[in-house]
Amino acid sequence: MMFDHFLPGTRYEGCIAGYDEAEIVLIGAGYDGTASYRPGARFAPAAIRSETLLAQENYSPYFRKDLTEKAIHDAGDLELPIGNKEAALQRIHRAAAASFDDGKTPCFIGGEHLITLPVVQAAVTYYPELQLIQLDAHLDLMDELFGDRLSHGTVMRRITEVVKGPPRLWQVGIRSGSREEFEFAEAHTRLFPFLTREFIQQVEHLKGIPVYLSIDVDVFDPSLVPGTGTPEAGGIFFPEYIEFLRAIQSLHIIGCDMVELAPRIDPTGVSTVVAAKILRELLMIL
Ligand code: MN
Ligand code: MN
Repeated sequence: MMFDHFLPGTRYEGCIAGYDEAEIVLIGAGYDGTASYRPGARFAPAAIRSETLLAQENYSPYFRKDLTEKAIHDAGDLELPIGNKEAALQRIHRAAAASFDDGKTPCFIGGEHLITLPVVQAAVTYYPELQLIQLDAHLDLMDELFGDRLSHGTVMRRITEVVKGPPRLWQVGIRSGSREEFEFAEAHTRLFPFLTREFIQQVEHLKGIPVYLSIDVDVFDPSLVPGTGTPEAGGIFFPEYIEFLRAIQSLHIIGCDMVELAPRIDPTGVSTVVAAKILRELLMIL
């Protein structure tokens, strides 16, 4: 094992490769210490895994592939000190750096959106030309939230400070933010509000460049994924997501994450079932 501090647990069904042979490494990072509205994303990685064990659906009819055909290793969940933000982020950073160092494509399961920051910080040291795609209802461009500069509401603002220069953050599906955040986005990011269509028309500009993909599940309509910390009306649905994945599948995706599922907020459990499918189809295109 390339990194330490992992909790014992089950693995994502179908992710059967050993670490050495794996091209993709699944890592749970259930940190939710800055959740501003409805917490609970810490429970997402374990909930998603147990859902896949029960469902036993490794085959994607969309991409006509089975998870077992891909070289995916499920490393398990990082043990994170929820009350110690700096230590938690440092531990996520170490796991990300270790997988980039070993030439793997890490796929993190959050946790809240702040976990993307240490992963991207690690990624840019290996891929200085990195571009980022953020699927999200929210801009996450606040300079601070409740006086805190490190929060799930400020994460993309901090990331624009990591990937400097001309805009390298592509924000897709956005439908919420303050006037100040939208003004910041106009100047410093590439903004594709509401739907993914306009982004898909521009996707060829990312060809051949290392890309990091971050999926905040609240980009989906809250009728599909109500189990999330900050639901926002008017989101995308699954067929649009599949079209988005088809559009980006030829890109050089060097890492990704899926964040902000809070399973216990949705008593039907459907949000977790949907999130497991969001993740399965994402793994198909890596
Ligand atoms: Mn977000
Ligand atoms: Mn969001």
